[in-house]
Amino acid sequence: MHASNSKEVRTRFAPSPTGFLHIGSGRTALFAWAYARRFKGTFILRIEDTDVERSTPEAVQVILDGMKWLGLDHDEGPFYQMQRMDRYKEVIHTMLSAGTVYPCYCTPEELDAMREAQRARGEKPRYDGRWRPESGKTLPPVPAGIKPAMRFKNPLDGVVAWEDRVKGRIEFNNGELDDFVIARSDATPTYNFCVCVDDWDMKITHVIRGDDHVNNTPRQINVLNALGAELPEYGHVSMILGDDGQKLSKRHGAVSVMEYPQNGYLRDAVINYLARLGWSHGDEEIFSVQQFCEWFDLDHITPSPAQFNTEKLRWLNHEYIKRTEPSVLAEMLKPFLGLAGLSTANGPAIEKVAELLRDRAPTLAEMAALAHYFYVRPEVEGALLVQHLTDAAKPAIAALSATLATTNWIKADISAAVKAQVTQLGLKMPQLMMPLRVLLTGQTQTPAIDAIMEVLGREEVLARLARMWPEGESLQFDKTQNFKP
Ligand code: GLU
Repeated sequence: MHASNSKEVRTRFAPSPTGFLHIGSGRTALFAWAYARRFKGTFILRIEDTDVERSTPEAVQVILDGMKWLGLDHDEGPFYQMQRMDRYKEVIHTMLSAGTVYPCYCTPEELDAMREAQRARGEKPRYDGRWRPESGKTLPPVPAGIKPAMRFKNPLDGVVAWEDRVKGRIEFNNGELDDFVIARSDATPTYNFCVCVDDWDMKITHVIRGDDHVNNTPRQINVLNALGAELPEYGHVSMILGDDGQKLSKRHGAVSVMEYPQNGYLRDAVINYLARLGWSHGDEEIFSVQQFCEWFDLDHITPSPAQFNTEKLRWLNHEYIKRTEPSVLAEMLKPFLGLAGLSTANGPAIEKVAELLRDRAPTLAEMAALAHYFYVRPEVEGALLVQHLTDAAKPAIAALSATLATTNWIKADISAAVKAQVTQLGLKMPQLMMPLRVLLTGQTQTPAIDAIMEVLGREEVLARLARMWPEGESLQFDKTQNFKP
């Protein structure tokens, strides 16, 4: 059944701000967001910050930054659970009056002893219901000076079941669930309870979250039932594993969303990659965010864990880089050139450099590294000079330099000048191309050298070639002598 047919879809992303935004959480957020977008619904951001020891304002900011970079805009919120304490207390009072919540005066020591005895009897430790009111049951006398915790009166029998939109039918026996604490003796509400009140108040229709929460769901359903709330649909998304099948962690590479922009990944590529991580639409591999929002549904999420594949992400990122307009790419590349310590003020237009390098660089960071010789006159290794600057090459370079001084400075004419030189001296193409490449870039693998020359500009090309002839003499090379800029 698609609730989406009948009423407004309302989804939420509810991260706990305890450090960074995990790339797996980014995918959960993407799915919840895309589902709302698909059905023209509402996407809500809720910060679950009740773990005061671990939650920090910095970690909240990291979540907001990550969501912003991913472009997962929320329609409502961010709501902060710490700002909703009065509301949780109010609901607890209502439930107390309704008899679906009761005070429990057990001290921590008593609870420890209870669990100890259960373990000794070979039983699973659980609350034994000693303060649970039942008709005809006499409760222990209320001890003086003890503030009670509040426990939820979980149904004793029957099953809690739901049709999970990702995993299919899931059911739990109520007999396995004990009366969990919804507010501690210091009156702070617990996590599982706050989630229920929030999902209810925020009229969430689809809870899309990680499958580490499957065990919480039966408790939450019971609380929602006790509140008389309409139940949302649940879709529990499997976790993401690293290439080795282990839970994705730092040792697999970048796990924090914000590491991706820092490492030169494009937002659209990361979204595309995350979308395909556990979800598919036929054989489609490359699609826009807009396309994804039109296609996304919960039925095509695979219930099995998805494997994170860094190589595939790099491939996808490269596809996006190749398809990005050079002028746009230039803007993206600029900060990376700065980080690489390159000053672009007196060098070629970044747009031209990006256009030449985009076929070779899977990330912006790598593109910046490749761009080095465009902005800094390269040092050339002695060994490369010995290998490529042969006796045949030297006069060819000299003659070419003379020609280039007057060549019309466009790629086609530069190329024609190089070819003419090769023909005139009876050389093979690489005999001139390789020394040119080495002298101009310090490398043997680069984009087409005529294109590089065009971008470098006549003056710079001639200056780099002229380094061969200090004070007009020809230079003797040896392998240990590097060619300084
Ligand atoms: N705050 C929970 C987490 O970060 C998510 C809870 C939920 O989605 O219901 O794992």
